[in-house]
Amino acid sequence: MKFIESRSIEKDNDASLKHAKLLRGPYQMSFDITYNCNLKCLHCFNRSGENLWIDRELSDREIIEFAKDLAQLELFNFCFCGGEPLLRFEVMLQAAEILSASGSMVSFVSNGNLLTKKRQKGF
Ligand code: SF4
Repeated sequence: MKFIESRSIEKDNDASLKHAKLLRGPYQMSFDITYNCNLKCLHCFNRSGENLWIDRELSDREIIEFAKDLAQLELFNFCFCGGEPLLRFEVMLQAAEILSASGSMVSFVSNGNLLTKKRQKGF
């Protein structure tokens, strides 16, 4: 009986170690890459469709530098949000490549209206 107990503790420790290796950095981060949107939904929590905040956004260069810094953290999961992130598709793709190369899973939240077949191939 003792043998069985110690074996199961050993197995639990193995699972914890695998988990620890998998999560070397923070689990999740979301980033509003833009506050602007091509739609104007009544329920929008940050009024993205009114394009009020365009002068407060990071430049493309700043986003790339931000992505390089984040890549050092070894995030498990990273999400681009907004606004409509496809309005900044090119820089989002570049930043996604940097984060993906560092081992993060990368996703984005979109209303889908600007998602062309060409853009789908980019991901
Ligand atoms: S699609 Fe999303 S971000 Fe755009 S206005 Fe609607 S709720 Fe806001």
